[in-house]
Amino acid sequence: MLLPDNIRRVPKVDLHVHIEGTVTPDLVKRIAHRNKVVVPPDLISGKSQSFQWRDDGTPKGNLRGFLAAYDHATSVLRKAQDYTDVIYDYLKRSSDEGCIYAEVAISADHGAMAGLTYPQLLEAISQGYEKAKKETGIELRLISTCVRHYGPEGALKVGQTTGAHPHPLVTGFGMAGDENAFTIADFKPAYDAAGRLGRTAHAGEASGPETVRQARDILKIRRFGHMVRAIEDPSLIEEQKAINAVPEVCVSSNMALKVFKDYRAHPVRKFFDAGLKVTFGSDDPPFFRTSIGREYHIAWEKFGFSEKELVKVSRNAIEEAFIDDATRGKLLDKLSAFKVAA
Ligand SMILES: [Zn+2]
Repeated sequence: MLLPDNIRRVPKVDLHVHIEGTVTPDLVKRIAHRNKVVVPPDLISGKSQSFQWRDDGTPKGNLRGFLAAYDHATSVLRKAQDYTDVIYDYLKRSSDEGCIYAEVAISADHGAMAGLTYPQLLEAISQGYEKAKKETGIELRLISTCVRHYGPEGALKVGQTTGAHPHPLVTGFGMAGDENAFTIADFKPAYDAAGRLGRTAHAGEASGPETVRQARDILKIRRFGHMVRAIEDPSLIEEQKAINAVPEVCVSSNMALKVFKDYRAHPVRKFFDAGLKVTFGSDDPPFFRTSIGREYHIAWEKFGFSEKELVKVSRNAIEEAFIDDATRGKLLDKLSAFKVAA
């Protein structure tokens, strides 16, 4: 995406993004052609050839429409090479916008839909990453993620698989999917089975403050996917500050999925000013017509983040990344080497 030079130069971190959600319409078409499968009808259309979904007007209609589009796009992925290409393409695009580190959610369940075992999925992603890293220097780590609405038993299997196949790139365990399915406590066994990994969970996006508290208290997490609806409860903001909570904020995602009615209602600036450790994520970038560069740009353009404040967001993300200290040190050095224009 075209970014003003001052924004493009800022070293960026994408701390919340899903691998299948990074696939562009163009890549979906190319992979579908290669695999001799048809692109699901109506998935890609319009002058801009972008992803489309239907909002049937019910309270969850828009989210449901998006999740269906996500699965339709994923359905063309059938081979290890497809995942290699998807991660390479995403890392190259991100690096072009100044991204130095990405933490990408992967799903053993979605890998299985493409016919890949979890180790095969990891191998495919590693290959794409190695190539991108050689060309750009970008760093990547992965968060093995269970899908909440597939239920606690399915999640436990993902946790066990993750625990049984430790991999140097997999440094976190997370949970995505419908935040209103089952209870947080039902998923504690999955997190425990995954072993000693960093922990995050989607909470406070489709659901309100209570899920944020439960994720914090039951799963013992400090990093939260979204957390934006914590704004509905001022005392929760104070509690979250006290534990130095880290919201992974994805503004374009929240706008596309109508979590807030307009930019003015979005709490990212309030979170930052309140001293919460705000980080940014692109979530499912082509679906929400965004990229990690555009998320930084929106923060600057719509929420008045200065370049210095954008650097602080990157510093927050690196400090809270699920990464070894040596790599963290190198990333912090890269950030320190960047000089904000006077
Ligand atoms: Zn997400």
